[in-house]
Amino acid sequence: TAAPAANFIKNIVEADLAAGKHAQRRWAGRPGTAADHAGAPLDPAKIRTRFPPEPNGYLHFGHAKSILLNFGLAEQYGGRCHLRFDDTNPEKEEQEYVDSIVDAVKWLGCSWELDGENNLYYASNYFDWMVAFAEYLISSGHAYVDSQSAEEMRLNRGTLTQPGIDSPYRERTPAESMDLFKRMQAGEFADGAHILRAKIDMASPNINLRDPAIYRIRHATHHNTGDKWCVYPMYTFAHPIEDALENITHSICTLEFEDQRPFYDWLLERLAEGGLLQRPLPQQIEFSRLNLTYVVLSKRKLIQLVDEKHVAGWDDPRMPTLVGARRRGYTPEGFRLFAERIGVSKADSLIDYVVFEDCMREVLNDSAERRVAVLDPLKLVITNYPAGQSEDCFAPNHPLKPELGKRAMPFSRELWIEAEDFMEEPAKGYHRLYPGNMARLKYGYIVKCTGCEKDAAGKVTTVFCEYLPDTKSGTPGADSVKVKGNLHWVSAAHGYSAEIRLYDRLFAAPAPGARREGDAPELERNYLDDINPNSKQVITAQLEPSLKDAKAEDRFQFERHGYFVADRVDSKAGAPVFNRTVTLKDSWSA
Ligand code: ATP
Ligand code: MG
Ligand code: MG
Repeated sequence: TAAPAANFIKNIVEADLAAGKHAQRRWAGRPGTAADHAGAPLDPAKIRTRFPPEPNGYLHFGHAKSILLNFGLAEQYGGRCHLRFDDTNPEKEEQEYVDSIVDAVKWLGCSWELDGENNLYYASNYFDWMVAFAEYLISSGHAYVDSQSAEEMRLNRGTLTQPGIDSPYRERTPAESMDLFKRMQAGEFADGAHILRAKIDMASPNINLRDPAIYRIRHATHHNTGDKWCVYPMYTFAHPIEDALENITHSICTLEFEDQRPFYDWLLERLAEGGLLQRPLPQQIEFSRLNLTYVVLSKRKLIQLVDEKHVAGWDDPRMPTLVGARRRGYTPEGFRLFAERIGVSKADSLIDYVVFEDCMREVLNDSAERRVAVLDPLKLVITNYPAGQSEDCFAPNHPLKPELGKRAMPFSRELWIEAEDFMEEPAKGYHRLYPGNMARLKYGYIVKCTGCEKDAAGKVTTVFCEYLPDTKSGTPGADSVKVKGNLHWVSAAHGYSAEIRLYDRLFAAPAPGARREGDAPELERNYLDDINPNSKQVITAQLEPSLKDAKAEDRFQFERHGYFVADRVDSKAGAPVFNRTVTLKDSWSA
């Protein structure tokens, strides 16, 4: 495999490694323990990154970019990447999501367990530390308890063009604030009665520095800590502390957190000044998030698609979730190729879905064995082939990998071919079967079409032909007759019928819900209106016999049709159900 491409984050990492920036750093103490902050010096050659999902939903394609970036950097530079559940928000988080995130990260081939280190963490295990750090900020005059209502706080925060107004509680003494914060923790107050704020600057041009809230009262049961706490840290306070406690060197996040970086640094500086953290502190680095045409990635919208049953669930093969991708047949290798190809930058970008699909095709073309399936079956009878007789034809499992061998495909008098491979009256340039024309049955014989039979409605029900006995593929006579058409087929007596799901894009518009040229000014679009009505089609196909043995998640190229996977949920032993992952060629671009 080619060396991973350079990007601006790698440049930062390499400069830090060259300068030995983290060589003097010591463990801040094992997170979640009350140990002191001294520990073994960190290996200066090791960077630490992390992927910090909030367990409030299933991971999507955008998360894959972040996962592969963070784990990829650790891997490339001999460092470590932590999986950390950013579970500081009690109301929205659930064990179901924790489990699905663990599965998805593993599925992508990323591991947080290495050399005896198990770097799986829960932010909620640091609540003792966070409270202690908050109390330090109070006692050192860097935080105060505010008792304004949420509405007053909002009004007094000011705007982009107007400075904020100091809270009347801003000059509370540390002792007063400490007393209130202790009583907040003891459960004496209702939600929203008081809030702990950092004391920075209400006139800062960066609104995030106008005394941001850091701890709030929430009487809620937490999925990990139960009812132990009734105060919870704000994300912007918790996140830098989580990074510091885990000795993260490079804290990589998406661009919307750029405005939060000054607070990230402010907070860690104050804690380091107080001797609560050691330097060098983690560095936040932002990159642009993944946006894809024809796809929505916002958690809110994904939840709506599931809740309103526009899809069958989080793992519906049309969902841009990683569980959905897995059922769809997309591969972890395809995601890696995609991540490598789109790169990492600070520029907002919208990636064409074709780029994603091409990565999946490229990987599958290389890895998937070939099989034959007839998706729209039409009976072909070879009138000069004896009834009851059959013979084997041999088809390579992979045209580029002879080492994968060949398999036998039984050939007999009655076959299934694709309905579109016969035309009673051929269109111009049509080289497949029509009365009088010859075509090859791939891996088998050349046949000459002699006619067809139709039902009362005029629909063709059977096509008749005669085969040329000397022309079997792989025999000396194979090339004695030249034909242009090459058809795939399944022996009717040997093949079997099975359910196949043909999936296509869930949305029919490149930017679901976005206004389009020519829209009336008052028109408001809804992304749900752009759902592709033909994104799922269930058909009964005729498959070659060897496919019966396919195991869940086995992937194949069905010749001429695309890549398919045996569904990991609905397949049964001896009865796999196939999902189309992607067609052989893009049918969406003009
Ligand atoms: P969403 O915005 O879709 O609701 P989120 O950012 O709230 O997702 P988190 O669980 O907080 O979801 O995200 C975990 C990590 O994944 C964060 O570091 C976040 O920046 C990153 N991430 C989320 N969406 C994308 C995306 N589209 N592209 C790249 N990284 C992403
Ligand atoms: Mg989030
Ligand atoms: Mg978000």
